[in-house]
Amino acid sequence: MALLEFRTEGIYCPRADVYIDPWKRVPKALITHGHADHSRWGHKAYLCTHSAKPVIRYRLGAEMRISSIGFGELKKINGVSFSFHPAGHILGSAQIRVEYKGEIWVVSGDYKIEDDGLAETFEPVKCHTFITETTFGLPIYSWRPQEKIFADINQWWKKNKEEGKVSLLSGYSLGKAQRLLQGLDPSIGTIYTHGAVENVNQVIRDQGVALNPTTLVTEEIPKKDFKGNLVIAPPSAMGSSWTKKFSPFSDAIASGWMMIRGARRRRSADRGFVLSDHADWEGLNTAIRETGAERVYATHGYSAIFSRWLNERGIEAAEVKTQFEGELQEINESNAEEGQES
Ligand SMILES: [Zn+2]
Ligand SMILES: [Zn+2]
Repeated sequence: MALLEFRTEGIYCPRADVYIDPWKRVPKALITHGHADHSRWGHKAYLCTHSAKPVIRYRLGAEMRISSIGFGELKKINGVSFSFHPAGHILGSAQIRVEYKGEIWVVSGDYKIEDDGLAETFEPVKCHTFITETTFGLPIYSWRPQEKIFADINQWWKKNKEEGKVSLLSGYSLGKAQRLLQGLDPSIGTIYTHGAVENVNQVIRDQGVALNPTTLVTEEIPKKDFKGNLVIAPPSAMGSSWTKKFSPFSDAIASGWMMIRGARRRRSADRGFVLSDHADWEGLNTAIRETGAERVYATHGYSAIFSRWLNERGIEAAEVKTQFEGELQEINESNAEEGQES
């Protein structure tokens, strides 16, 4: 019996009878983080980290049975040891380590190596088998340091301000939006937020995280107040009638997919900033090396190409089909097709 199996319900541990990030309703779910493709509604019981819990609670509703655990804390289920370790993806995100009689597997969830000051810093975990995401598993995906990206974003905002325009910046409401917020320079002007973003901001502030000040966009705010200022909105709000009151504006999207010119063109935004909450090519390779894993399962993104790459390097690797979406759902909450082209 393998320690973990891939079933139609999700990643399953038969010995403990629990699932990790299942996509079908199950009795017991261990959850790596609050993004919709990992944290689905309707399981009987959930287990996540303390810092991931508030947003999962907010998104799934008060009636869900959600317990939480500290990073590194050990939980035994039917003799199998489980622990959660920082994945650096969004606040509270975890890799899940599973150990039974000396055999260790780690499920990465989504992760990134660069410390963004919001998510707990990624920690490599030694294991025999590593189930890794490969959202950006091609050598062309190489991120510049985030300081440089934020300098570009702030520069874009300043220029728009000089031209009397509003800056409309799009990022997924959980994770990317807060990361953008923390990278913005509030001395340039007021930072406004769409309701979907502000709701998540509030959940995160309530857990004691100090985010830059924001002002919720409401009907009562006169159009002239927005001039020269910046608005953070989820991708689904871009191009909708909601944006009308900001005109004239310049819009931009921040995503790893912006590395590809075609993706930028398709998005029809004025600007694309290459900023991702997922590891780039180098990050994936570093993380895998540091696990010391002799076997790797690659899920979502360039999983086929990436597992071939690992095979050539003497690591036993295979592609596994899952229903995780990588950054696709983060680029466009309503239409996942767009990011596919790259
Ligand atoms: Zn995610
Ligand atoms: Zn994901």
